[in-house]
Amino acid sequence: MKSAAGIVPLDLEPREAPAPARLPRVTLVVPVYNEEASIAIFLQKVDETTAEIGPSVCFDILFVNDGSRDKTERLILAEAAQRDDISLISFSRNFGKEAALTAGLHHATGDAVIPLDVDLQDPPEVMAEMIRRWQGGAKLVNARRSRRDADTWLKKATANTFYRLFNALAEQPIPRDVGDFRLMDREVVQAIRQLGERSRCNKALFSWVGFETEEVTYERPPRAAGESQWSYWKLTKLALDAIFSSSTVPLRIWTYVGMMMALVSLAYSAFLFLRTLIFGIDVPGYASTVILILIFGGLNMFALGIIGEYVGRIYTEVRQRPLYVVRAHHASEKSGL
Ligand code: UDP
Ligand code: MG
Repeated sequence: MKSAAGIVPLDLEPREAPAPARLPRVTLVVPVYNEEASIAIFLQKVDETTAEIGPSVCFDILFVNDGSRDKTERLILAEAAQRDDISLISFSRNFGKEAALTAGLHHATGDAVIPLDVDLQDPPEVMAEMIRRWQGGAKLVNARRSRRDADTWLKKATANTFYRLFNALAEQPIPRDVGDFRLMDREVVQAIRQLGERSRCNKALFSWVGFETEEVTYERPPRAAGESQWSYWKLTKLALDAIFSSSTVPLRIWTYVGMMMALVSLAYSAFLFLRTLIFGIDVPGYASTVILILIFGGLNMFALGIIGEYVGRIYTEVRQRPLYVVRAHHASEKSGL
């Protein structure tokens, strides 16, 4: 498929030959964990919204059951028996939302994918605008929360600190107040599938891959039913995963701290040494003891920094992220590429 400009869209997995008038399909990826109270409300709302979005796209829903211990799985299977657009992947135990979302991205088959919370905190009606932007050429459409009224002050404050810290440290910043709710074109999903790291924060990966990104805003409503399964403990773990897997700065900063310390120690040692030479000894052993402590302290820190540099590089290698993500390429007649 070559457009007039000769740009060939990169498709890493060959598509099946599409039927001439095949509708673009959007897969909704829905992680669920003990959500028996939400399934029916969710499906009803999604059906209403997709009917309104109209006939230019079709939808399918991929539930990822993250080891629920209640009736969630049975309810979804009962719904799936009635219709042809519901799929379900069930985990053997609770692996957490990041794992559930990742499984969803690995198995989604649509031309675009939208991860969606089952509690309707990601309002399905926002999808209409996302899909319009996608049809207008955007590959990634982020949904930004315009207000966080539904959140407690503690959650707002911790979220704020997280965004600041992350964006100061990571090579690719993540947009504030954009959750997992977003539309990703198939190309973006393919790129994310190449990121094989184990400790992952999907939000950070979504922005790492790049592509033409647009944004829509929405107001985040409170949970429709059931209770949030996130604890501050889980959120802290996620925040640390995000920071440590997107940045080696915390590890390598010690090289600079060590260098500074070594320099300052050296200067102070020289001062003590000269003072002792010129003015004599007031406390016996003070100068030599302090000089030894300072010099070895500085050297220790510096050596830790050097180890940090190596560990940081090992970490980057082990993570095996692709070096780059290609969006399109143009091949000349001669090159035969
Ligand atoms: N979820 C999950 N596994 C978990 C925790 C949550 O799959 O271990 C799902 C949950 O069912 C919901 C979504 O992730 O669809 C968001 O969870 P929740 O509403 O509890 O998070 P919050 O909105 O409070 O951030
Ligand atoms: Mg929620």
